[in-house]
Amino acid sequence: MALERTLSIIKPDATKRNLTGAVNAVLEQAGLRIVGQKRIHLTLEQAQKFYEIHKDRPFYAELTEFMSSGPVVVQVLEGENAVAKNREIMGETNPEKAAEGTIRKKFALNIGENSVHGSDALENAKKEIAFFFSECEIVG
Ligand code: ADP
Ligand code: MG
Repeated sequence: MALERTLSIIKPDATKRNLTGAVNAVLEQAGLRIVGQKRIHLTLEQAQKFYEIHKDRPFYAELTEFMSSGPVVVQVLEGENAVAKNREIMGETNPEKAAEGTIRKKFALNIGENSVHGSDALENAKKEIAFFFSECEIVG
């Protein structure tokens, strides 16, 4: 077991419905520690840069417009196996397929407006945390 950090984002559909605390309660109950957190409004350019990996996917425009449509809460989570643990707690991308008790099952509206982002690998977590450190000093 290894102490890891992962990047989480509470997406605009969730901040809009005042679900920041509810999402954080699920994260904390699962043993993930919120070691940095900032509520920001991403520009379209920041969202495009963050999701560059998906630039050739058909949903790229929809995704980046959505992510810049309202405030998000960018978070750094810490814990044992934090990357995989957070992915498990988030649930499947499509909330219809997400397991009971997961954040997306509880809160997501649809496959696009699915309430949370979480890094999918330790290497990507490091890159994503570095990205938000340079954008807004997400962690001290
Ligand atoms: P995840 O967030 O579970 O890692 P992906 O990396 O595949 O999922 O996709 C990134 C984000 O793009 C998703 O969380 C979701 O907001 C959006 N997305 C994925 N697939 C679709 C789709 N078919 N239609 C609209 N938006 C999508
Ligand atoms: Mg992903």
